[in-house]
Amino acid sequence: LRKDLMDAEKMKVASVISASVAHEIRNPLTAVRGFIQLLGAAQLDSDKKQLYSQICLEEIDRAQQIINDYLSLAKPHDGKIEKLDLGEEIQYVSNVLSSYANLKNVQVHIHHESNLYVLGDRQKFRQSIINISKNGIEAMGERGGILTLSVIEQKDIVTVLISDTGSGMTEDQIRRLGTPYYSTKDKGTGLGTMVAFHIIQSMMGKVDIKSQVGRGTEYNIVFPKA
Ligand code: ADP
Ligand code: MG
Repeated sequence: LRKDLMDAEKMKVASVISASVAHEIRNPLTAVRGFIQLLGAAQLDSDKKQLYSQICLEEIDRAQQIINDYLSLAKPHDGKIEKLDLGEEIQYVSNVLSSYANLKNVQVHIHHESNLYVLGDRQKFRQSIINISKNGIEAMGERGGILTLSVIEQKDIVTVLISDTGSGMTEDQIRRLGTPYYSTKDKGTGLGTMVAFHIIQSMMGKVDIKSQVGRGTEYNIVFPKA
């Protein structure tokens, strides 16, 4: 029964997204097309060239992010379920994020013990941790800060902690997290947390969020130990 309920809910969310995802992707594509046309036209000074290429790259990244988020949700049963070594996985995620973190003046710290396992689809698990970590990095603004990924063992559960020294959230903002398209960012998709929460839920995980405005946020994600 529980599984049926979860699948029904996923289907509902997936259809909400598919109704508007084509539209969401068309916007960046239209922008890219326009700027490529400009780039190919008259003589441009190098500042303009750089600006237009930059916009193209950002818009393509945005389209890619939406597609990634959408596809990982739309195919909930395709992945292989395996034993994931959490230490290895957070190491992998921190490598993936390192250039982005660098760009944003964020140091990524990781702490983990070895031989802590959970069951899940590797790609999806990584996606969920990346989505949450990216928000942490983005919450730290120009000055940057510290993003900490830790894995802690307690009895039958394993906890993944993702904390940042960023802007923090109010209780109301925390409540809205995970709602499709809820974003406070100029170029936000509002899909990152929703997808992350669904992946975590599908792994029998639970998310608890503590946040203080102006100080930072901690995501506390608990999984049954494999
Ligand atoms: P997006 O990142 O595209 O805005 P998300 O679903 O990933 O969409 O996040 C939704 C919103 O939740 C963000 O726009 C931001 O306001 C808030 N948020 C999520 N994580 C954090 C965090 N670690 N610190 C501050 N705000 C956060
Ligand atoms: Mg995000």
